[in-house]
Amino acid sequence: MKCALIRPDGVVVHAERHPTDAGRGADAVVGTILAVADGLAGKARADGLTPTALGIVVPGVVDEARGVAVWSANVGFRDVPLRDLASARLGLPTALGHDVRAGGLAEARIGAGRDAEHVLFVAIGTGIAAAHVVAGSAATGAHGAAGELGHILVRPAGPICGCGRPGCLETIASASAVARRYAELTADPESTDRSDATPDGRSADLPDTGRTMVTAAEVAARAAAGEELATRVWREAVEALADGLATGQALFDVETIVLGGGLAQAGAGLFDPLRAALRDRLTFHREPRLVAAALGDEAGCLGAALLALDQLEKR
Ligand SMILES: [Zn+2]
Repeated sequence: MKCALIRPDGVVVHAERHPTDAGRGADAVVGTILAVADGLAGKARADGLTPTALGIVVPGVVDEARGVAVWSANVGFRDVPLRDLASARLGLPTALGHDVRAGGLAEARIGAGRDAEHVLFVAIGTGIAAAHVVAGSAATGAHGAAGELGHILVRPAGPICGCGRPGCLETIASASAVARRYAELTADPESTDRSDATPDGRSADLPDTGRTMVTAAEVAARAAAGEELATRVWREAVEALADGLATGQALFDVETIVLGGGLAQAGAGLFDPLRAALRDRLTFHREPRLVAAALGDEAGCLGAALLALDQLEKR
């Protein structure tokens, strides 16, 4: 959990991190969230500040209008009325949002997309998720599940995704996928003759070689140095990502696409080939500006603060 006291002008006054310990179950995690938020408000007061609003953002499916954490695979939330629980505990107006949408909101308003009215923020890490922000507001979807760009189909015969379907974008182009695919290829001596996946479409189980897995950033560096397998994995990721972004641009027609998460730190090694591959795929659509996120891992906290301030304005 990344937590912060943030001034209305966006300056982070104080930041803390706490382990989520999701294994304890959803109730215990909720208890920790409330205790940490309460502690932060207390610290603010002790420092002579006046806490005015609370913003909480969580992963998964989030019903922002009702303030309910509907579903989250990794934290175990099922219909948790987190907004009401928090506002009852702290006595502050509270907003509940979605982690990636909040990060996208922050990037669009005060980060890399701040000069654009229409922004698509794409976070590439363990998975891939997106936020479509128009005029400073991130679309939530009818069920709180908008922005699942990682689960659009890009390779029908590709590896099976965590969602159960084959060939989703994040099975090829997430930072985890890049690391995993490179590990598979380098573990298998026949690898240079293999297609994208095993014949049944599933990604092969990794043989237990006892080696530590090379990260996506390292794969990018090895590709830049001309290593053959790294180049192949990286090129496939870039191509798949370009397919996904072209779909995003066809749907949303944005001025700026902001890439965040671990993979975006690859810099020119990602952005140069990705820009070219995206340009290849666009016909009548206008080419968006493709830029790296500017707020780093503070984006989620800043987005939560922005949602909290928005909540105040609505009152
Ligand atoms: Zn999927």
